[in-house]
Amino acid sequence: MILYNSATRSKDEIKPHTEGKINMYTCGPTVYHFAHIGNLRTYIMEDVLEKFLRYSGYDVKRVMNITDVGHLSSDADTGEDKMLKGAKREHKTVMEIAKFYTDAFFEDCNKLNIKKPDVIEPATNCIPEFIKMVQGLLDKGYAYIAGGNVYFDTSKLKNYYVFNNFDAEDLAVGVRDSVSEDENKRNKTDFVLWFTKSKFEDQELKWDSPWGVGYPGWHIECSAISIKHNGEYLDIHCGGIDNAFPHHTNEIAQSEAYLGHPWCGHWFHVLHLNTSNGKMSKSKGEFLTVSLLEEKGYDPLAYRMFCLQSHYRKAQEFSYEALDNTSAVFNKLIARIAALKNDPSEEINEDAVKKYKDKFKEVLGNDLNTSLAITCLYDVLKADTNDRTKLFLIEDFDRVLSLDLINEAKKYNEKAQSQPESDEDKEIQELVEKRTQARKEKNWAEADRIRDQLKDMGIILEDTPQGVKWHR
Ligand SMILES: [Zn+2]
Repeated sequence: MILYNSATRSKDEIKPHTEGKINMYTCGPTVYHFAHIGNLRTYIMEDVLEKFLRYSGYDVKRVMNITDVGHLSSDADTGEDKMLKGAKREHKTVMEIAKFYTDAFFEDCNKLNIKKPDVIEPATNCIPEFIKMVQGLLDKGYAYIAGGNVYFDTSKLKNYYVFNNFDAEDLAVGVRDSVSEDENKRNKTDFVLWFTKSKFEDQELKWDSPWGVGYPGWHIECSAISIKHNGEYLDIHCGGIDNAFPHHTNEIAQSEAYLGHPWCGHWFHVLHLNTSNGKMSKSKGEFLTVSLLEEKGYDPLAYRMFCLQSHYRKAQEFSYEALDNTSAVFNKLIARIAALKNDPSEEINEDAVKKYKDKFKEVLGNDLNTSLAITCLYDVLKADTNDRTKLFLIEDFDRVLSLDLINEAKKYNEKAQSQPESDEDKEIQELVEKRTQARKEKNWAEADRIRDQLKDMGIILEDTPQGVKWHR
């Protein structure tokens, strides 16, 4: 598979460290609030990537952290701890907040058919690992203690800015609310590995460490959790573009300094979801969550399809109008699949299966082109082959796309069968029968009058050998 790599700024072949196996790491949510649908776009695209790698035969191990401590309001170590902020807002303890929003996050993922990672690790579970890594960095001279905190010394690195091809705007995101410059830092880009001198006396979660009672910085969490579960070599690191700097940049700095060798070969970043107000955020405009979309009557899977229609490396613009369009497209797609007959006496056409599967693998294998993968579904629907083969292929593609296509089509058919006839349908049927009766009685004038009346209602009649049929 070829996938764009933010670290090399080119589309690179994925080369796992161990043949046939892929270690993947995903930055998980900071569980102080609901995820907005822009956050979830990233998780949807990562999910497609993971499923496509599995579809292609790789043995994938995916690890994700849950940030329940240490992530400050600005990504650059300033401001209040987000978890503490959430707890204060809701008059709960940090751990209560963490539990509530972790559950809410996985509920959203479930609705969007995002598979749970193989390993989910809350940061508060890994304090010994963080301490070990911070100590290792101090021993190797990459870290220093100042004002009670432990800092990473970025001046020790030859190349700190790994992703510096990104727009200034993207790079600025993480540091935009630098309320106060930390005077303990030797260099502006240095970052905190361990806080002991908390700016907030009421920080709830604190642990003993060789440097005093305190808590870890956010960046060290991801490096240590990845190394704990994926070992010293990581194949693909995923995340939203917001995290490229400073978070991922700092992860690379500390991981490679600690390990003494290159750490992760491939960096997968998903671009923003924008609204007409600009980049989606929790504080700006309507707070768009999966639950809100549901309240407004949208199927979460229509939102998944909306994301798949756009390339992950392009910023996507969200509007209700755009989602309405996708919902209509999604419903039509389901209706077309529902019309396919699963006849077990038909033989699956192996040539067609190979042809369409090859195409599907080709488009996703070329930098995860999900919109062309959706086109593959329509190609199958139009294909010159039997319905059973089409259903087989649709089910196969859906292992990656996860739009519940077969299931939704089944539900569609069940609903159509159980739906009682509408009053209008009954009226039409009665008129059709009256007209048939009039024709039998050779009352042509009455038959024509009824035909015209139906025509005014938008109903077309068709005389067939099986009797009269009507459609709108
Ligand atoms: Zn992370």
